[in-house]
Amino acid sequence: MLDLARPEIRALKAYEHARWEPGLVRLNANELPWRSPAEHSEAGLNRYPEPHPHALAAALAAHYQVPASMLLPARGSDEAIDVLIRGYCRAGEDAVLICPPTFAMYATAARIQGASVLEVPLRRSQGFALDSAAVRTRCLAVGSPPVKLVFLCSPNNPTGNLLARADVLELVRALEGRVLVVVDEAYIEFSAESSLSALVSTHPGLAILRTLSKAHALAGARCGSLIAHPEVIALLRKVIMPYALSQQTIEAVLRALGAEVQAQMQPHLATLRTERALMATRLAALPTVRHVWPSDANFLLIECDDAARLVQRAHDSGFLLRDLSAMPQLGQAVRVTLGTPEQNQRLLASLA
Ligand code: PMP
Repeated sequence: MLDLARPEIRALKAYEHARWEPGLVRLNANELPWRSPAEHSEAGLNRYPEPHPHALAAALAAHYQVPASMLLPARGSDEAIDVLIRGYCRAGEDAVLICPPTFAMYATAARIQGASVLEVPLRRSQGFALDSAAVRTRCLAVGSPPVKLVFLCSPNNPTGNLLARADVLELVRALEGRVLVVVDEAYIEFSAESSLSALVSTHPGLAILRTLSKAHALAGARCGSLIAHPEVIALLRKVIMPYALSQQTIEAVLRALGAEVQAQMQPHLATLRTERALMATRLAALPTVRHVWPSDANFLLIECDDAARLVQRAHDSGFLLRDLSAMPQLGQAVRVTLGTPEQNQRLLASLA
């Protein structure tokens, strides 16, 4: 999969950061030797964090059950998306392929890099299923810009559905050696499906995005992971900024991945699944709601008579919802993130 990457990145000599060696007095990085009274970190924020944090990568890799050489920690999966595109797409020449309606960051990051964005819609009539045959055909079509990356999102934001594993794997196999297929699993913990990351070691054309922003309740920490072939990870380590993850984030994530915190988080996931089913039924019963799409994520996509009106009504009662009517294939559509049981009740009351 390295052959697909930008030649200038393959040839790039990695930035040489100051040597990072715990236990020695650091007079090599122009830091201040005293701590700021304003901070509470364990290690001290007067010091740069580890440039490419090994303990963090090891803990994330253990959590996701992959070797550490196959994992790149990043400032949220947003940064992992950006780093992938900057590593693989030559401005003005290469393309990414997305399947709308889907998470908007893939196209935004591609456009910032100057890459083209090709689209193969999900099939609404099949519950927003992946059209793997059409994606394959589009990727291999002669005459259009070379597709370097396909972004698939499962469960998909904003439709909430999982993509069929068989469809995804068929595509990975068909495009092996020609395109890197990136599966964004930001919401996988809310579903009953297991991650595809176990297959990355045998399918170098597959890469997975994971995040701590959703089921781990750490959106404010900014920590996502790219899981890919070790050569892809080594290449993209040259693209990501050194010191990308702050010392506070590193410390918070190491605590969060411990068994105790993990066990404390489990009841929230169970509550969320119960609330998802309840809210789907209750929202569907509202007279202005036409359809609630089944969801494997922590949100529900609803179609209604008048999305702007529904969003305004919620707003008047103190809730922010997302109007997605401008998205392709969605009618008057609103995405509702699931809150606490009490918040969900109040939202329902305000919409009733
Ligand atoms: N992927 C998907 C599908 C998302 O919905 C989001 C956040 N809305 C992200 C990635 C970005 O997450 P992070 O906080 O890890 O950058």
